[in-house]
Amino acid sequence: DFVLESTLDPATEADREAQSLLDAAERKQKSIQAVRESLPVYDYRDALLAAIEDHPVLIIEGETGSGKTTQIPQYLYEAGYSKDGRKIGCTQPRRVAAMSVAARVAEEMRVHLGREVGYSIRFEDKTSEKTVVKYMTDGMLLREFLTEPDLDGYSCIMIDEAHERTLSTDILFALIKDITRYRPDLRVLIASATMDAQKFSSYFDDAPIFKIPGRPFPVDIYYTLAPEANYLQAAVTTVLQIHASQPTGDILVFLTGQGEIEQAQELLRQARVALGRRIKDLLVCPIYANLPSDLQAQIFNPTPENARKVVLATNIAETSITIDGIVYVIDPGFQKLKTFDPHTEMESLVVTPCSRNAANQRAGRAGRVGPGKCFRLYTLWAYENELEDHTIPEIQRSNLCMVALQLMSLGINNLVEFDYIDPPSVTTVQKAIGQLYMLGALNAKGEVTKTGRRMAELPLDPKMAKALLASAKYHCSDEIATLCALLDVQSALYYRPKAEKLNAEKAHQNLVQPGGDHFTLLHIWEQWVQLEYSESWCRENYLQRRSLLRATDIREQIVRLLERIEVPLESNPNPADTSGVAKAMLAGYFSNVAQRQRGEDSYKLAKRKETVLVHPSSSLREAKPPWVMYYELVMTSEKFVRVVMEINPEWLIEVAPHEFKPSDIVDKSKQKMPKFLKKARELI
Ligand code: ADP
Ligand code: MG
Repeated sequence: DFVLESTLDPATEADREAQSLLDAAERKQKSIQAVRESLPVYDYRDALLAAIEDHPVLIIEGETGSGKTTQIPQYLYEAGYSKDGRKIGCTQPRRVAAMSVAARVAEEMRVHLGREVGYSIRFEDKTSEKTVVKYMTDGMLLREFLTEPDLDGYSCIMIDEAHERTLSTDILFALIKDITRYRPDLRVLIASATMDAQKFSSYFDDAPIFKIPGRPFPVDIYYTLAPEANYLQAAVTTVLQIHASQPTGDILVFLTGQGEIEQAQELLRQARVALGRRIKDLLVCPIYANLPSDLQAQIFNPTPENARKVVLATNIAETSITIDGIVYVIDPGFQKLKTFDPHTEMESLVVTPCSRNAANQRAGRAGRVGPGKCFRLYTLWAYENELEDHTIPEIQRSNLCMVALQLMSLGINNLVEFDYIDPPSVTTVQKAIGQLYMLGALNAKGEVTKTGRRMAELPLDPKMAKALLASAKYHCSDEIATLCALLDVQSALYYRPKAEKLNAEKAHQNLVQPGGDHFTLLHIWEQWVQLEYSESWCRENYLQRRSLLRATDIREQIVRLLERIEVPLESNPNPADTSGVAKAMLAGYFSNVAQRQRGEDSYKLAKRKETVLVHPSSSLREAKPPWVMYYELVMTSEKFVRVVMEINPEWLIEVAPHEFKPSDIVDKSKQKMPKFLKKARELI
């Protein structure tokens, strides 16, 4: 006893504990080092650095998971590209990827995230003075051009996941191509999965292509014999079949969004309860854009011995994020895609079949650790005959208003002849310019006005930016900033579990305020702040606390931006009169108004032909006021307007006298060609 006690000296014990922690850390670091060296890109480290040295623009093509995103910026750092205080920047099309990759690289480099390695996404900047390796969304780099048009703070820019061809990536291509002409020191890397490299090379004046061969294992592909009526149910069934009959290996399922992923999670939970303890445990991990980061990290945890992991992912797992250990892929063959109709100016998210290219990428995910299997929930015939080769680039299916304002603020005036890798339609460009003109961001000569410059400072849709500027006049910037944040999260704010549907509806009904959905949102915000972000209040009212927390962050950022655009932070001086708030919003959204049709439930969009309905989620669905302003137009079974406010049509003449004349607000039969469009045509 005596001897034992003496060895249990507290100092020694603490030392031992510290030593064992150090040992664990060292083991972890050693294994991180081993993983780094095992990645395909590692063998090409020196050749790659030499090629980068020799060529201002280099196209890098490599299998997903070969280490492009996590390793190449580190190689550049190790080779001294940040010695002169300049940064190494790497863009990602997706927020989640930027965050998760930055976290991984910080760990590999043994630094705190946000110090030497950081990330920047809209409304969240996790970088510091010290940051030398910076991951960011492509949209954020595009914004940086406004303050630093030559990207002088960077020694090297890697445009990653170039094959995704997001709107921002496409615009970055052109802007960066231009910079390389007068900054020969800048190194530009265009990195993509194994697609489109030739196209990128031609666009960048025949820049060389550096190939990193992957080491994929064969993947067997299985098709269904007949089309599936319900792919979600089919996917869940396939998970259970694999789990019951196939050897060890994790499963990756591609779904189209958060809603589907949550449904699948629930179905799998029920099935697991039904199966009881008869089979090994199924560990279900979701991954999608709005998933909180602590849960995102979970998908990378190694699967315990007695379990099988099922990752339910959006197409984020196609190329942006690699999860080790996947042996089985289930591909229903769908994705959610943004579309834009320049004639109706309607942007919508539609579930569409994925491209053949995407299907092949998805299948490839099964062959990283060993031979894999991919179960396509569609027929071979559909694969061969129904899928498109490529997804249409986003620039050809988006509203270009925000991008047009950014480019014009950079002094690029001819948006039709801009050096696009694939050009958007002329109609879309005209519509964007027309909208900017209507909002007062451009003058009659097509030049960016002072208002336009201030709008461009804000990382917001130009309509919202205009509303924020207008709030100064009505002394309610506080309310408009709040709306701006809440409108960003509104689609994930209310929560209605099936089993408690009635309670949830009642709770939501109790939150409703007169005047429309915007005022309900403001009321929710007031309560949220008054009750100090209460968790139980959120639960009682069936509101997603996560969305409110995010709105809180966004609002904070917007309040900070108000200073930049010189709008004082003021709250509506007379809360009983909400017309100021309404007018400020209307100053941005005056083109989103609709008039009720005589004797009908439906509305006609002002100055357009379309007929729409008020969405069932709106509190004005029953009241049906004569005039409404809406936040968005969505197309499901019908055309619906969502997040709706009642307006007095006279306000239109006050906030947008150039667009609305007294005759517009009484006589609905007249249908003139909108004047702005004629003007927009003349501008080009
Ligand atoms: P690529 O960009 O070529 O597709 P990556 O650099 O993204 O390849 O991935 C290289 C490796 O890093 C993969 O094995 C991946 O699993 C691993 N990895 C990436 N992010 C994380 C993370 N957050 N945690 C653990 N491993 C990660
Ligand atoms: Mg990558």
